[in-house]
Amino acid sequence: MASFQFNVVGYVKSPYKQKFAIPRQPGLIPEATGHLVLEDNYSDDAILRGIDSFSHLWLVFVFHETADKGWSPMVRPPRLGGNARKGVFATRATFRPNPVGLSVVKLEGIERKNGKLMLKLSGIDLLDGTPVLDIKPYLPYSDALPNAAGGFADAAPHTAMTVSFSDNASAFCQQQRQYPDLAVFIEKVLKQDPRPSYKKQRDGEQSYGMTLYNYNIKWTVNGEHNHVTEIHSLSE
Ligand code: SAM
Repeated sequence: MASFQFNVVGYVKSPYKQKFAIPRQPGLIPEATGHLVLEDNYSDDAILRGIDSFSHLWLVFVFHETADKGWSPMVRPPRLGGNARKGVFATRATFRPNPVGLSVVKLEGIERKNGKLMLKLSGIDLLDGTPVLDIKPYLPYSDALPNAAGGFADAAPHTAMTVSFSDNASAFCQQQRQYPDLAVFIEKVLKQDPRPSYKKQRDGEQSYGMTLYNYNIKWTVNGEHNHVTEIHSLSE
């Protein structure tokens, strides 16, 4: 069997520090901004010449967190409640023969900091530290196919989940200055109901926690309502 070796062109700096709570696809939470920091071999300004005329980019990346977990021919897409089984090539599952992912993201700008060349991106669905193998411009005339059939995922996931914040959590969002969209970002993450399917069937109040940027966020779920109870910084 033929095999090929690829070089990582850069690594993603993302607000998503763990897989839990990352949206299933890019673009669902535009407030999710991050950077793709190019490796030194690819940090000549010439490599990006012309890229700023494109609004969106395709990223080809490695599912590095789960790459060593193997794969099987059939998977249970969360979209189908984790019950129905589909062929792995009929899904966007992370566990695949080659653990390669594909995401279209919005290009917000090009930056250089401390000698590192980076792309500022938004709408990402990538874990912090994701290795990227390639970057290609998104071509609307060819890549946007409004009449394409979307199979069992023919529309963006929708939930009836609502979100409220405790006074403390709300004040925390307003007082921190680094991320003006923090409250909206948290709200959108929780509205997509990131709980695993089997937990969604449980009755009574459940407590959860996640890390976004360097903030630990705690919330409770009761029926279809999320209540953010507490937020604190993990480091200054
Ligand atoms: N848009 C990509 C695609 O279609 O190939 C990813 C789709 S996959 C269903 C989305 C999930 O990948 C996210 O919910 C997150 O849990 C997971 N994910 C993101 N970055 C990852 C990484 N570096 N390693 C493993 N899993 C990752």
